[in-house]
Amino acid sequence: MSTTQETKVEQEAIKRDFYHLIINGEKVKGSKDETFKTYNPATGELVAEVAKASQEDTEKAIAAAREAFDNGKWKKYPIGRRAQVLNRIAAIMRSRFNELVELEILDTGKSLQAAQGQVSQAIEDFEFYAGALVGHRGAVNNMPGQFHNYTEKEPVGVCAQITPWNYPLMMAAWKIAPAIAVGCSVIVKPASLTPLTTIILGEICLEAGVPAGVVNIVPGSGSEVGNYLVEHPKVDKVAFTGSTPIGKDIMAKASQTLKRVTLELGGKSPNLVFEDADIDAAVDGSLFGIFYNTGQSCEARSRLYVHEDIYDEFVSKFVEKTKKLKLGNPFDKETHVGAVIDQGQLDTVDGYVQSAIKEGAEILAGGKQAHPEGFEKGFWYEPTVIANVNHDMTVVKEEIFGPVVVIMKFKDEKEAIKLANDTEFGLGSAVWSKDGARATRVANQIQAGIVMINCPFSAFPGTPFGGYKQSGFGRELCIETLDLYTETKSIISYYGSRPINPLGV
Ligand code: NAP
Ligand code: MG
Repeated sequence: MSTTQETKVEQEAIKRDFYHLIINGEKVKGSKDETFKTYNPATGELVAEVAKASQEDTEKAIAAAREAFDNGKWKKYPIGRRAQVLNRIAAIMRSRFNELVELEILDTGKSLQAAQGQVSQAIEDFEFYAGALVGHRGAVNNMPGQFHNYTEKEPVGVCAQITPWNYPLMMAAWKIAPAIAVGCSVIVKPASLTPLTTIILGEICLEAGVPAGVVNIVPGSGSEVGNYLVEHPKVDKVAFTGSTPIGKDIMAKASQTLKRVTLELGGKSPNLVFEDADIDAAVDGSLFGIFYNTGQSCEARSRLYVHEDIYDEFVSKFVEKTKKLKLGNPFDKETHVGAVIDQGQLDTVDGYVQSAIKEGAEILAGGKQAHPEGFEKGFWYEPTVIANVNHDMTVVKEEIFGPVVVIMKFKDEKEAIKLANDTEFGLGSAVWSKDGARATRVANQIQAGIVMINCPFSAFPGTPFGGYKQSGFGRELCIETLDLYTETKSIISYYGSRPINPLGV
């Protein structure tokens, strides 16, 4: 069997000066010939120019996705064959691992360690769904007498997938893999600040044998392209990862056509360290929990609560290690913390820190812009620890989305749970305690989609990821995600020997 049955795309270098849209299996320029530029946040330097999709291009992408779904063969492929293509996508990504890592670092300014982990996970997502797909099936339900009922899982149709800039390739994989696994067609709108690896993933899908029109990539403005997708009557579903305000706007607009909606939104995740925790493990895990990916994580554990008996010891160790975190060349494997995504985000982060200072908080580490040697033109912020705060302060209530953590004391389990839940968000949370009964008891009472017990990691392919409350709804990265890309059809039949005449006419 040939590896590229539908469309042949030459393998060219992943790092280029210009990136195209992908519509109906073709790499194209925007219909208006417009472009935009993408920069390296670590240096401020230009990385590449990108074709900018217009509404006309978006319309073409929707038409291609519609045609591929309604009349194409992808959803009719035997399951094993779709799984094979997903595995092929993963294999191509793995064979180009270093190039993907390099491009992701250039476009985002994130550290090598972070980029390697995320590219690996993006690959494993395709492998996971190639397997999960095989076990995704309908059911046979008990029925009285001579009736019979079974359910079919049918792909939901054309899906708009809108992603943020913090984990570009990983978010694209979280969305594309489950959708195409079940036979949907997708139109992906990557964040304007970081479109490059998503475009490459679209090309890899074609190379792996995904038929034309099944995966379309339309970089462009959120308010123009994103909004057009959300309002379009021929789009059946929107999967969005991004900020809570835009999520609300999308949900309202999608309601006009009753699109299926999945929202992965912001967070302000609590991290609870109990007096019986392994303090050193809790310090290291909490450090990772907030400063990984420069704090630009939706599930960043940005509210740190420590039991009063160990508060001084914990804080002293935590601050000491925070000050040791190395900023600088993202390609250096010793670098712990990469750049902030752009000047706007840098100003936002600093604005939050300044507001905390004004409200009487104390800065225990960081608190200002950083200027790593050789990277002075980039956007950097010192890993920042803020103490002496209370729950009325903006810096405790709002998502900062940068390398900033607030630390508070608690006196007992009840207070810890109350503080943890005192937020409009509900995405991640962490509990540090050597007492398994306590950790489980606390985990059960936290209102969040994810609880990490003595563990710094929030997501593996197969584990559900998503929020409670205003952190959104729907779960990604897991088997249940396949249900969010399918409709359940109930088929009822009658096998009785006597004809039914319910009206008795
Ligand atoms: P954002 O401003 O909400 O943007 C996210 C995406 O939506 C981008 O592609 C953006 O396009 C697009 N967009 C903007 N306005 C739109 C509109 N009116 N209609 C449709 N699409 C629109 O978020 P961000 O600043 O990129 O990302 C940070 C946020 O994402 C944080 O709040 C973070 O917590 C959240 N996040 C959540 C998760 C999770 O899984 N829960 C994961 C990662 C990030 P442009 O780039 O062109 O503006
Ligand atoms: Mg960029």
